[in-house]
Amino acid sequence: MPFQLNDKIKNLSPYDPITGNYPIRLDANESFLAPDEPTLEAITRAVQGAAFNRYPDPYAGELCRGFAAFYGVDPQLCVAGNGSDELLSLLAQAFLQKGEKLLSFTPDFSMYRFYGTISETEQVVLEKSAALQLDVEAAIQTAAQQDVKLILFSNPCNPTSLGMSRADVLRLVEHTQALVVVDEAYMDFYDQSVLDCVAEYENLVVLRTCSKAIGMASLRLGFAVANETVIRAFRAVKSPYNVNALSQAIGTVVFSEPEKLRKGICSICASRDSLKAGLQALQLPQIVCLGADANFLYCSAQNAEALFAFLMNRGIIIRSFGEHLRITAGKPEENSALLQAVQTFYERGAGV
Ligand SMILES: *Cc1c(COP(=O)(O)O)cnc(C)c1O
Repeated sequence: MPFQLNDKIKNLSPYDPITGNYPIRLDANESFLAPDEPTLEAITRAVQGAAFNRYPDPYAGELCRGFAAFYGVDPQLCVAGNGSDELLSLLAQAFLQKGEKLLSFTPDFSMYRFYGTISETEQVVLEKSAALQLDVEAAIQTAAQQDVKLILFSNPCNPTSLGMSRADVLRLVEHTQALVVVDEAYMDFYDQSVLDCVAEYENLVVLRTCSKAIGMASLRLGFAVANETVIRAFRAVKSPYNVNALSQAIGTVVFSEPEKLRKGICSICASRDSLKAGLQALQLPQIVCLGADANFLYCSAQNAEALFAFLMNRGIIIRSFGEHLRITAGKPEENSALLQAVQTFYERGAGV
């Protein structure tokens, strides 16, 4: 028999984000803010000081201390990853054994199910309510009945841009024996974090990332925060030098400027609010914003696919999810261009 790919991977296709030259990118929930000159200079100095011929610190100690100081958590309870994607992959591979059950929800971040599939775990998926909310009672019941080992969701949710209350999250954590992983990739834009609770629970993991509010998607930096036992396990199962020296050095610079970070987050929130207000001001019944708790809007739209294509033709990229659209908050002029194009699309009668 010639070599053949196994069943679990043979039909997978590579992750395929929209590439190409589009002047306005509102598709990936990145920050629209790039580092300013003084920060770029500090980054340059940090890169020049890197020990290129040596392996990096396996535990990214300095970076974790910077991250921990910014978020007011204990650095001992943090582990850094090559993006939170690496940490998600580790959770599925190492914290679950083959055939054990992972509970996720729909709609939610599509990568959760992907990593679960690769690690040959069993997937249990609960539909969210018509209002796109995660039903905590149903999650507790399902987890108990089906002996779920790991529960994973984003808060605020990507793609719905709706947040859950901290009380609801903790109720779930307290009423299940599963490990509850709360992906707080967008929590900087909302205010219901459970980061401060990790030491109190055996079964709570919080994920954070530098890819959104911190404005450093290029570095691939994510963090898991949890109690000592869980963090020790993370350190034991990760590959030794998972975060490269340059990302560690640059990430450390970025977290050394907390005021700048906070200001940046404020201006992203302001952009999100003005994008939402701008959409409402168009008074188009064909497009309705359903969620705006993160740095993007989730909208239901008539003729969504055609609107998506129309925008793309005008050099504006957003994300489409069937009848829904996800629009990242951008610079003021990017938001205006988007709003203008949406108005043109529907006023031409294209949305009918
Ligand atoms: C963008 C995003 C992440 C970040 O992933 P990184 O690998 O850290 O870039 C994690 N979770 C969700 C839900 C996201 O939308």
